[in-house]
Amino acid sequence: GKLGYAIVGLGSYGLGMIIPQFKNCEHSRLAAVVSGDPAKARRVADEHGLPARSIYSYADFDRIRDNPDVDIVYVCLPNAMHAEYTIRAARAGKHVMCEKPMAVSVAEAESMIAACRQAKRKLMIGYRCHFEPFNLEAMRLAHTGAAGKIRYVRSEHGFVQGDPSRWRLKRALSGGGSLMDMGVYSLQAARYMTGEEPVAVTARESTDRSDPRFREVEDMIEWTLEFPSGALAGCQSMYSANQNRILLMGDKGRIELEPATRYEGNRMWTGKDGREQAVSPPPGPARTQFAGQLDHLVQCVRTGAEPIVSGEEGLRDMRIVEAIYRSAREGRTIRLDGRA
Ligand code: NAD
Repeated sequence: GKLGYAIVGLGSYGLGMIIPQFKNCEHSRLAAVVSGDPAKARRVADEHGLPARSIYSYADFDRIRDNPDVDIVYVCLPNAMHAEYTIRAARAGKHVMCEKPMAVSVAEAESMIAACRQAKRKLMIGYRCHFEPFNLEAMRLAHTGAAGKIRYVRSEHGFVQGDPSRWRLKRALSGGGSLMDMGVYSLQAARYMTGEEPVAVTARESTDRSDPRFREVEDMIEWTLEFPSGALAGCQSMYSANQNRILLMGDKGRIELEPATRYEGNRMWTGKDGREQAVSPPPGPARTQFAGQLDHLVQCVRTGAEPIVSGEEGLRDMRIVEAIYRSAREGRTIRLDGRA
C-alpha cells in the first residue's frame, strides 16, 4: 500500500502544487490536512475523501500521533514555522518532509535534525530540482565531464514580490529576503552541478530601502562561491525581477538551462562556441518532479536509506546562507572551510 502524508499549511504550495500531485505518485497518498482555516480544511478533505478525524488545526496538531493513516508530515508553512512543526511532527512519531529553506538559522536546522534523529524518523527537504529531469541530466553531464572541467557556474533566480504585507517580506516569518526564497535555488544549483562544497564566499547586497516591499528584507543579493577545484560560481537572487537561469561553463563546452528550476516548461542546451543544441525531450523519469520527491521519501522510510536531500543537506545550505549574509554585512570574504 501507499504511505500517507499530512500536509501542514494549505497555501499556494501545499494546496496548489503538492496536493494535486498525489495522483501522479506510486507510493504516496494524501492522508490528512493541517490548517488554521477550518472551512478550507473541510473543503479540501471532502474533495479528497478524507474523514473528519484527519483534519487538524495548528492547536491540535500533536494529536496526529494517534493517527495511523499518517506516516509523513509535509511542512508547507512560512519559513520561520518550519522548525516548530518539524520538531512537533518528529515528537509525534512521524517522518518529515520540510519545505525549503529548511529553517531560518543554522541553530534551528540543527535542532530539527536532532529531533528527527532522536525520534528515529527520516527528515527530507523539499529540494524538488533533484527529481527534475533537466536538472538531473545537467548534473549527469556535468559530473561525467561532457562539458570538460567545470570552471564557472552562473545561477540566477528572481521572483517579483507585490504586497508588502505578505509573509515573504516580513522578516519574522521569512528569515530574510530573496536569498531565503529564490536564492536557495541559486545556491543549491551551484553545489549540485559542481558536486563540490564551497570553501569561501564573497557577497554583496543591493536593496532600495525606500521601497515599501523592502523595509525588512533584502531585494537583491549576489555572491561568489569558490570551490576546491578552482571553479567559481556567481550566484544571485532578487525580488524585483523574474529570472530563472543556470549556466555551466566547462573547458570543453557549456550546459545552459533557462528556465532552469520552474515547476514545468524548463529548457536546456548543450554545446560549444555558439553551436548549442536544445536537449529535448528530457531524459530521465517521466513522472513529475513533485511525485518523484514525494515517493522518494516513502522509499527511504521503507528501505531505511537516507534521503538524497536530507536534513544534513539542508543544514549545509543554511550554513552557507548565514555566511552569505555575514559577508554582505561585513564586506569581506568568509571562509567556509575553517581556514583563516
Ligand atoms: P503561502 O503564503 O501561499 O502559504 C502559507 C500557508 O501557511 C498558508 O496556508 C497560511 O495560511 C499558512 N500560515 C500559517 N500560519 C501563518 C502565518 N503566521 N503567517 C502566514 N501564513 C501562515 O506560502 P507558500 O508559497 O505556500 O510557501 C510555503 C512554504 O513553501 C515556504 O517555506 C516556501 O519557501 C515553500 N515553497 C516551496 C516551493 C518549491 O518549489 N519547493 C514553492 C513555493 C513555496
